[in-house]
Amino acid sequence: MTGILTALCAAAVLAQPPAWFAEAEVCSGWYRQWTDEAIADMRGLPFVIGVPPDALVIAKAHEQGTRVLAYVTFYQMPAVGEYQRANLAEHRDWNVIGADGSETDSVFASTENPGWKAVCPNSPAFRDFALEHVRYLVSQGVDGLFIDNAHPSALCEGPKYGRHEHLYAGEDNIRAYRCLLEEIQAELSADGKRRALIVNPGEPRPEWAGACDSQMLESYICTWASKTRWHDEGRILAFQKSWGDTPVLALSYIGHTANPPREDAFWCYAWARMSGFLWADWFTAKDTARELYTLRLGRPVSEMSLKDGVYSRRFEKGVVAAAGESEGGTLKVAAAEGKRAVDVFSGRGLEPDAGGVVTLAIEKGRARVVVFVDE
Ligand SMILES: [Zn+2]
Repeated sequence: MTGILTALCAAAVLAQPPAWFAEAEVCSGWYRQWTDEAIADMRGLPFVIGVPPDALVIAKAHEQGTRVLAYVTFYQMPAVGEYQRANLAEHRDWNVIGADGSETDSVFASTENPGWKAVCPNSPAFRDFALEHVRYLVSQGVDGLFIDNAHPSALCEGPKYGRHEHLYAGEDNIRAYRCLLEEIQAELSADGKRRALIVNPGEPRPEWAGACDSQMLESYICTWASKTRWHDEGRILAFQKSWGDTPVLALSYIGHTANPPREDAFWCYAWARMSGFLWADWFTAKDTARELYTLRLGRPVSEMSLKDGVYSRRFEKGVVAAAGESEGGTLKVAAAEGKRAVDVFSGRGLEPDAGGVVTLAIEKGRARVVVFVDE
């Protein structure tokens, strides 16, 4: 059995993401009820994560052009009670078993998920359940999957304590989880329609690269867990260096610092986009910076660069720029011929000088977006 699965694991990687996913610049997530009002509020976003497995709800989102991804976790489950259409209490062969033979708690058991247990991706029965659940979600019409908590417990002594055998005997659960991701990716598109797979390890991990279409970088710069921008400029640049121009989804939670939320939203958006990441805010800036949801700048046409105290990157239809944290600067960009330059933050038009250059002063810690629109 192990040999067959190893072969499957090695063969399952899919190359190109769906076109709608590759072209997306922002997205969002919604974990509350998908009422008609909530769905209408998603209009203009290319895709939203967290849709319930309900064909009617999914059809409503599709009607307005919003694609939808379901939320799942294959890391943890409540010890008792139905979750993702299964009850862990009825499946003693799914638990992760620790070195002392006890069932391993989820890392969230002491905070948001009391009583939740870690589940084993190396358990054949759990793997079968995970793939069956993916098939069910696809049958409801989802356009893809968001797998949260992509940080499996590396150690499981299930075989030693007689709870289950392992698909990948003698290997830790990092390998088993990687193979599960590859199998899920293949299952998602088994009918020939390519669906998207995003995983959330907290920060991207090299082990999952290639086994999904995107990895999440959660709490990017702004987060509910800090009253300041907890990633400073050095850290932001380090993320860009490590993961720039790979399909990372940077999620910022706006509204928790002393800054105006609109400034934080532009700051996080700008750094994500200059780094070549998708950006999301889970609707935390919907009342203060909503136009970021529908900005479409097209492909980047330059690298990110630093000049006159401002980092910037040019895209087909605009320029994204941020001053440094400690000093302001000036953005100077060549206007696009036959187009009007607009500062998205203020909504003001920017007049080019005689040389066709548009100038915009940017204060320290602030970011701006200039778009080129038809006259
Ligand atoms: Zn196990």
